This record gives sequence, C-alpha cells and structure tokens, in this order.
Amino acid sequence: MAAKKSSSHQTTVTIEPPQFDRPEVEIRASTRRKKTGNAHWSGSRIVVQIPARVRGRERREFVDDLVLRLMSQRPQNAAGDGALEERAVALAELYNDGVLPASVRWVNNQRARWASCSPDTREIRISSRLRQCPEWVIDAVLVHELAHLQEADHSPEFYEIADRHPRQHDSGLFLDGYALGLGLRIESGDVDLESA
Ligand SMILES: [Zn+2]
Repeated sequence: MAAKKSSSHQTTVTIEPPQFDRPEVEIRASTRRKKTGNAHWSGSRIVVQIPARVRGRERREFVDDLVLRLMSQRPQNAAGDGALEERAVALAELYNDGVLPASVRWVNNQRARWASCSPDTREIRISSRLRQCPEWVIDAVLVHELAHLQEADHSPEFYEIADRHPRQHDSGLFLDGYALGLGLRIESGDVDLESA
C-alpha cells in the first residue's frame, strides 16, 4: 500500500482585520495550489485561497484582486455603473431640481468615506462597500452627493436639498451601524468627510 503524501502539503492561514472598504479576510496559502486562486464568503468574512509560492507585492495584488472581484459579485447589488447612473438621474429629477452629474460610478479605492463628489467636474463616486447595503441607503447617499452639485459645502442650504430624501437621517444611522457591524472604526459623521 502506498503511503498518502498529503502530509507534505502545507497551508498557512493569515487573518487580516476588516478595513474600511472590505470585511475581514482569511488568507489560506497552500503549497498544493500551483497557479490559481479562489475566494468565497464565509459569513461576513472572505476566505481567499492562494498558492503559497506567491509572495510579497505579487501576493498583495493577488489577494486584492480576488477580494474585489468577489465583493463586486454580491448578487443583491450586482448592478454596474450604468444602473447606478440611471438611478442617480431619477433621483436628481425627484430631489435635486433636475441638476444632473456628469458621471456616477462605483469605486474600490475609497478608504475613509462612503462616497464623494467633485462639483467642478460633476463626478460622483460611490464606494463598492455600499453594494451590500439596501437600495434606500444607496439612494440617500446618492441624493447627498447630488446635492453637492448645487452646494459644495455642508451649509444649511446644502442640507435643505440633501434632506429632501425622506430617509436621509435613517441612512446615516444605518451606515454608522454598518461600519460598527463590520468592525470598522469610523467616526460617525458625513458620508463624504474623510475620517481621520
Ligand atoms: Zn457631503
């Protein structure tokens, strides 16, 4: 009888704490894997399997790529930039006096805020983190960013527009709880203020 050789395979497990733009990530580096990686959800954690031979910067990129790809595949919010932009246009008609943005897109690089708006270029960016939130929360964040097209600062005039969305306040509470639930240390505050 041939002896099993499974003992020659090794798996090293590393846990990365949650960050602003991603949940907790468990990295399983296995000598059994040669080239390909894999990522799946395990509760609120993402488990990534990678070849043990991938190291350093290559490993960082390998893991980031798998994590971001999985996060953008969450079925409840699989919609792409096109659908997001369509939603923003409908909301602009309802709440923003028909003032429209030049572009609206999901981004993966917002580390310290949920969304942002550049009033000069009229571009709105929404963190991919929000893909996992209910639609009314995404709507409220969109209305907040749309309002910045009319009022750049968080002035009383700004809030007069942003708060036209009936659940703007609830949305803020939801996002505070969401951040807490993900184990993120974010100060409560505006959706688009950089946290310290
Ligand atoms: Zn703002």
